[in-house]
Amino acid sequence: MNAEIICVGTELLLGNIVNTNAAFISERLSAIGIDCYRQCVVGDNMKRLTEQLAESSSRCDIIILSGGLGPTEDDMTKEGVAEFCKLPLVEDKASRKAIEEYFEKKGKKPTENNWKQAMIPKGARAVENPNGTAPGIIVETKSCKYILLPGPPGELEPMFENSIIPYLKGLCDRILFSRTVKIVGIGESSVETQIKDMIDAQTNPTIATYAKTGEVHIRVTASASDEKEAKKLVKPVVKELKERFANNIYTTEEEVTLERSVIDLLLSNKMTISTVESCTGGLLSGRIVGESGASDVFKCGLTTYSNKSKRKLVGVKKGTLDKYGAVSRQVAAEMVKGGASLTKSDVCVSVTGIAGPTGGTEDKPVGLVYIGCNVKGKVTVKEFHFSGNRNKIRSLSVTNALILARECILEYISKVNFG
Ligand code: ATP
Ligand code: MG
Repeated sequence: MNAEIICVGTELLLGNIVNTNAAFISERLSAIGIDCYRQCVVGDNMKRLTEQLAESSSRCDIIILSGGLGPTEDDMTKEGVAEFCKLPLVEDKASRKAIEEYFEKKGKKPTENNWKQAMIPKGARAVENPNGTAPGIIVETKSCKYILLPGPPGELEPMFENSIIPYLKGLCDRILFSRTVKIVGIGESSVETQIKDMIDAQTNPTIATYAKTGEVHIRVTASASDEKEAKKLVKPVVKELKERFANNIYTTEEEVTLERSVIDLLLSNKMTISTVESCTGGLLSGRIVGESGASDVFKCGLTTYSNKSKRKLVGVKKGTLDKYGAVSRQVAAEMVKGGASLTKSDVCVSVTGIAGPTGGTEDKPVGLVYIGCNVKGKVTVKEFHFSGNRNKIRSLSVTNALILARECILEYISKVNFG
């Protein structure tokens, strides 16, 4: 089963909006084992849209279209598909009712062109859109299936998850099941070397590595006739990976992020955390708070950007700043000592570095970052040399601060448990 994606919209061609729908759809298709061979973008133009439909339908089983389902003149995806498939547009009663109810709920009156959205190609299926007025549409012809989705991601994404994925799964006779082993503290090439034998021998399940900012993910995917069988195939491979990477694995669950794993570690050990940030300016605390339930472990996030605030808020000594500079191992250490005593949290993490592009010197170049971690009085500081632009350096700093926190907490726990 293979698919192509056609995103419709002149705005996309002009670069006014980023095509996140294509990325979203592709990612979801690969997760359920449908090969996506092409993505393309056409403007709001009937001729070019129907030309693209002719080209794509000649070589694939499923065409997924996004955008151009709205009520205005430039929205013509549905008309294009209807014309290409030689189907008249007819009113879909349920969609008309849904539009009525949508406007009633908002206390607004629909305009005449809103009813245009209740028209679908004859014989097609309307797909409910709880987040907007344009329904999705599925048109099935002998050679190809057309899936039309509204452009706004807030409408497209839930519709895809809730209605389109079950529909697509129903078309496939085999199912895919994946587990993602998420690794920190080892680079991608080293991870690949350590599993080269497994990659070389792979058939079903397949094993693929992906580098994320500061992390490496290994996705193990099995194809089978049912989920139980697929899970059985994946299990021994994940077990083998767990043995090889041990503590460098922070999760094997798709939805668990690094910050989630740190929060869970703190929760299960009844510990709390605080942050003292300089160059990341609150990004680290923001990532922690981005997880629901952070309030159970996160006590305080301080952004001590200036030297004065480092002294006043967390008691970094003037002598230390004068002698070593704000970006130094010593200051990172004093930041976590002061932070922990101020907030009374079990764990305190600090970040101080040069995110650039200005401010670097020969001694202390852009990308030099010190990350400190204090777990119940034991202070660890690590030096990093990151490359990339300001955003990249800051985001690598945050990821590595979470990694260091995780390492230090694990070390503390193992000491407590095993003396
Ligand atoms: P509407 O009823 O809002 O007109 P529509 O289905 O006609 O929806 P478009 O008019 O093509 O969709 O796009 C509406 C909005 O959806 C765009 O302004 C943009 O914000 C978003 N959008 C459209 N296509 C994409 C895409 N491929 N990726 C991300 N966002 C998109
Ligand atoms: Mg539109």
